[in-house]
Amino acid sequence: MIIEPHIHMVSRTTDDYRAMAMHGIAIVTEPAFWPGYDRRTAAGFADYFEQLTVAEPVRAAKFGISHHCWLGLNPKEAVDLGLALEVLEILPEYLDRPTVLGLGEIGLNRNGRNEIKVLEWQVELAARRNELILVHTPHLEDKLKGTRLILDIIGADSRISTDRVLIDHAEEHTVDLILEKGFWAGITLYPHSKCSADRAVDILETSGCERIWLNSAADWGVSNPLAVVEAGEEMRRRGFSEEAISGVLFRNPAAFLGQSPRFKVQC
Ligand SMILES: [Zn+2]
Repeated sequence: MIIEPHIHMVSRTTDDYRAMAMHGIAIVTEPAFWPGYDRRTAAGFADYFEQLTVAEPVRAAKFGISHHCWLGLNPKEAVDLGLALEVLEILPEYLDRPTVLGLGEIGLNRNGRNEIKVLEWQVELAARRNELILVHTPHLEDKLKGTRLILDIIGADSRISTDRVLIDHAEEHTVDLILEKGFWAGITLYPHSKCSADRAVDILETSGCERIWLNSAADWGVSNPLAVVEAGEEMRRRGFSEEAISGVLFRNPAAFLGQSPRFKVQC
């Protein structure tokens, strides 16, 4: 059994659900993210949160897949502070819904001042409500600086335990920094802008398999909803044991997600 802990199923087809189910993916968790265009109103976010908490679990269940989600204001749309405040106003009502695991994906995209402000607001909300946090880190040249900023902001809040926070889109130059500070790390298998299966397994060979999960972050762009399955095959080809493979593809995400009382594994 495989958990795909970060995928944007609202952008995927039912054929993808079928293929994932056939390859052993039994559980998906879907963070709220940027839809490929900027939403103009808080009502646009409300509709999206409805879709994630009501419609998508029903669609997934038709293929025997259990669907959970994360809600929050993603950093790409966290530039307009007025709109951000309106979204944060409606957010708590949705966070109480039965399949919501916590705040995510929140974080930084270009490390801008407004993004940082909105991240701080959402970290405060997560701390007050004792929510798990799933963090998006910036791409390319902004990644190291952004990851450091995020670790500092979250690490400074004594109410938040680092083992309840997963820092996603980690790469070779950020993964050890994340793990050394006690956070969980996610490695994203995404064509062009993020890791290949080869690079991801290289990271597992050098940084170990503890407190790490793999995900596809498949969305509306060129991406692969079976990427975690293929990375498992690459681990097998390199000689990792079945125990180690199921550790990364199932037990690790189950351990992190299981810290939320709303996360249910049906075997
Ligand atoms: Zn994402």
